[in-house]
Amino acid sequence: MEKILISACLVGDKTRYDGKHNLNPSISQLLEKYELVPFCPEVEGGLPTPRNPSEIKGDKVIMDNGHDVTDNFKEGAIKALMLCQFLKIKIAVLKERSPSCGTHQVHDGSFKNKLIEGMGITAKLLKENNIDVYSEDEIDKLL
Ligand code: SF4
Repeated sequence: MEKILISACLVGDKTRYDGKHNLNPSISQLLEKYELVPFCPEVEGGLPTPRNPSEIKGDKVIMDNGHDVTDNFKEGAIKALMLCQFLKIKIAVLKERSPSCGTHQVHDGSFKNKLIEGMGITAKLLKENNIDVYSEDEIDKLL
């Protein structure tokens, strides 16, 4: 069975910044065709749960309290890529709008709930390394 790297919060892990999850109802259909490998780059990058929300601002990632968490986000992204390479994973399904996992949209760095086109730190690194990155809104394409 082909493996897919998937944002841990999409399979029900409570890894979101607010300690909640984003369980996606299409996961059960994905499981019929693929082996899912859940991964949360922010947790793997050393951040606690719950944690302050973060947004991408230029080439940095900043929490709403001003704390610079760029290194944590980069570490999580590198670990995600290493896991894909180790397990020969070629597909990732990621949570849209997250500063780590967003595949088409992210928040604009103002913490005013404003979305812009762009990718999260992990999504971008995976795509740059030839992993096919899908948002959770595109699961249908894989079924
Ligand atoms: S970093 Fe990704 S996997 Fe982790 S909680 Fe945020 S969206 Fe989910």
